[in-house]
Amino acid sequence: MISSFSRIIVVVVLVFAACSPAKKVTKADVQTLENLKLHIQYLADDKLEGRRTGTNGEKMAMEYISNQFKSIGLLPKGSKGYYQPFEINEGKQIDDSTKLIINGNNLVAGKDFFPFPFSLNQKMEALPSISVQEADMPWFFDLKEQLEENKANPHFDLANYIYTNSKKAKDRGASAVILYNTSSIDDKLTFNGKDKSEQLTIPVLYVTRKEAQKYFKDPSATIDIKFTTALSEKKRTGHNVVGYIDNGAATTVVLGAHFDHLGYGEDGNSRNTSTERIIHNGADDNASGTAALIELAKKLKQSKANNNNYLFIAFSGEELGLYGSKYFTENPTIDLKKANYMINMDMVGRLSDSTKSVTIGGYGTSPTWSSVISMTPGNSIAVKIDSSGTGPSDHTSFYRKDIPVLFYFTGLHTDYHKPSDDADKINYNGIASILQHITGLVESLNSSSKLSFLKTRETQTTTSARFSVTMGVMPDYTYSGTGLRADGVSEGKPAQKAGLKAGDIILQIGDYKITSMETYMQTLGKFKKGDKTKVIYKRGNDTLETTVEF
Ligand SMILES: [Zn+2]
Repeated sequence: MISSFSRIIVVVVLVFAACSPAKKVTKADVQTLENLKLHIQYLADDKLEGRRTGTNGEKMAMEYISNQFKSIGLLPKGSKGYYQPFEINEGKQIDDSTKLIINGNNLVAGKDFFPFPFSLNQKMEALPSISVQEADMPWFFDLKEQLEENKANPHFDLANYIYTNSKKAKDRGASAVILYNTSSIDDKLTFNGKDKSEQLTIPVLYVTRKEAQKYFKDPSATIDIKFTTALSEKKRTGHNVVGYIDNGAATTVVLGAHFDHLGYGEDGNSRNTSTERIIHNGADDNASGTAALIELAKKLKQSKANNNNYLFIAFSGEELGLYGSKYFTENPTIDLKKANYMINMDMVGRLSDSTKSVTIGGYGTSPTWSSVISMTPGNSIAVKIDSSGTGPSDHTSFYRKDIPVLFYFTGLHTDYHKPSDDADKINYNGIASILQHITGLVESLNSSSKLSFLKTRETQTTTSARFSVTMGVMPDYTYSGTGLRADGVSEGKPAQKAGLKAGDIILQIGDYKITSMETYMQTLGKFKKGDKTKVIYKRGNDTLETTVEF
């Protein structure tokens, strides 16, 4: 389940407690429990180092899942056998060939200096004077004056100032911009690879205070400067694992669970407070759903309910922002028009033995759900309903393709996104009950025609308690261009009222350029309820403007 500034709001509309008499435990039930244990123990073992997308741990998990799919008799339905590789763009990185030599001294990239992510890649040698702004020469800027002038100005945006000032310098003839700060104010500037500002046509470098004091103290000095700026796209490859039961049916039921987790927390989505490097095993999140998916495949392979085909997808890249499911729905290996409905399991391993409470999201995405969920028999779980088709997991990607979804979830807990989410805390009987519920539901829908789809309200995942305002925009985490792309807009929220739609790319709010998810969040923090501001956005090839009232 995604954590980054997502907040889970579950609106409980109805509660069904099914208290049918205890079912006799069969040999098959015992075997299912045993299998669930084996799967989770393997997937949540330290050996897999937290199954982070793009790592060897992800690979081990992929191999395990595909081997399971194969032995169950599922057909490979990825793009490479069972696998469906996809790329994750993580922004910019500083390549090794980046260097800066001042007066014969080598500075260390990333420590003594860095090029800004919007910098042009170039090699340059020059003998500029610090105080002279000559055409076709590097220009020097001390940030001191700007920082001191704006010390008490909460609206001052240093990053934006640097970008626009560098662009202006280029227009006035500079061949490069070298920035430094001799003031006592901490500028907090670091290389931020996630900055998606449009690339400038000159190199822009920042030299740290310590180095600036060595070389830039005398403004009349001439500097012997040689540098190479080399930035590249930082990419990772993730893999979905996809298996198929072909019943020759007209419609296909999609069942999914993400198998990736946080690794050591390198992607900044851990809630671990210690600075120690610890493996996040993600037993509940989401070895539990993955194990359930494998056992569900086994059950449906043996089931007589064969009026649908069944597609099983173990997603990767979920924790980074639903990358795997989004990629699948954009590059499906089946005809998505024939997808009947999708069931997602994310964090199903912590059923409380006292409340037996399972939240089922997506309840509002088809009129069929209301009858079938309350009627699904023989189960020892209490179902809580959340109507929204969107939420912090992979069903959202299918809902966006107008496919009815359900999302099974046993709830948040104190080990969520922490290294303590381990296999010994899993309620295996609980997972078995959920499996039974899903199997019962799928089988009871066997004779139904293709479910009809309903749009629901959007679960608000972009607001955080830190902000007093919200736009009501669901960001597309996988979008790698400049700006923030809206995956959806909430009904009745400021963005929708201002005419913004899904697919629009927000480029500017007020005076603030939106270059990344971070700048979007920071920008929202600068407004209060009732504020009105202009928003510049892109729709197709058009750049448009509107006014948003918070
Ligand atoms: Zn998660």
